[in-house]
Amino acid sequence: MKQKTFRIILAILITGISHINAQENKTKDIIDPCLSAKSNDYMDRQQEALLREVAEVMDANPPKYPAARIRQTALYLYDAVMHDKYVAFRKPVQDFFHMRIEKAITDIENTRVDEGAKIWKLYNMGFVIKTNSVTIVFDLVRAASADSKDFELSTDIIKRFAEQCDVLFVSHKHDDHQDKTVAQIFIDAGKPVVAPDQFWKEDPIYSKITHLKREANKVQELKIKNGKMNLNVVIYPGHQMSGTDVNVPLVLTPEGINVAHLGDQINEGAFMIDYDWIDKVSNNFHVDIMFPTNWTNELTRIAKGFDPEMTILGHEDELGHKVYDRDPFWGDTVFSEPSLKEFLSSGYPYLMMIWGESYHYIPKKK
Ligand SMILES: [Zn+2]
Repeated sequence: MKQKTFRIILAILITGISHINAQENKTKDIIDPCLSAKSNDYMDRQQEALLREVAEVMDANPPKYPAARIRQTALYLYDAVMHDKYVAFRKPVQDFFHMRIEKAITDIENTRVDEGAKIWKLYNMGFVIKTNSVTIVFDLVRAASADSKDFELSTDIIKRFAEQCDVLFVSHKHDDHQDKTVAQIFIDAGKPVVAPDQFWKEDPIYSKITHLKREANKVQELKIKNGKMNLNVVIYPGHQMSGTDVNVPLVLTPEGINVAHLGDQINEGAFMIDYDWIDKVSNNFHVDIMFPTNWTNELTRIAKGFDPEMTILGHEDELGHKVYDRDPFWGDTVFSEPSLKEFLSSGYPYLMMIWGESYHYIPKKK
């Protein structure tokens, strides 16, 4: 009898403990509330396996135009992973992101560019361009827009970018493009941050930002390397529809390689006025590389205006967006216009890259 009572008490205790464990598991492990802890664990393992496969395909088939056919399959697989609503909360995906960016900055630190320009793709519209004499970065962010603390890049890694880059260009006010913490790190490192004057106005950082004139075709000199070098830059006065100013810098590197970053430039309604300059960029400058978003409208018309040697698309699978709006590599034409699909068959050379990938651009002999 005594033994039986003991067993009952033991059973109650064990059930209680396992119940507590189950509760803990619930709060600790369940990322997607529609799934059980076991199914969530499965999703973690699946996303890890698929990303590992994508990275292996990409590493074996680096970006070039035209791309190896298998890259398309890998990009579509990557789209599938990135359209898991909770992907930025999954530890293996966070690790993958951090590892890819860590690999990129280590490569930037150890690369000397003797010819042309080397380009690294970071998060969203973040790109580093390194020539023999300058290193510039566009729209570098920690990826706070994904709203997952553990997904964000550390300030330590951003400091390494600030160490390597001579200037940070910020296209516009949205948080998948601007990051005040990143801007402050660049300013603390003595590196200029060039941005439109629409944001951070109430913050002490505002007075430290370089607000170049937004004027089509006007070459302005930007002091870099502690004033030892002048970098020639044009800031085209772009917009993201109404209300948002987008700086579209065309950077004229000392090596004669000219790169244009379009931020979230998109023309609509009254802002068709932007075509006044978009249609004529190539009448005034030779453009080597253009970096537009993959979802902008009339991409082929923009390409005709810039007439770039190479287009490197960006903004795919931005995790701060709702699932239907994480514009995929496969080119959804229901939410976005068929602009991307048209552009891809227009004959303009282009590249699609994932986090941390690089491309060495060698200009054609003139
Ligand atoms: Zn954006």
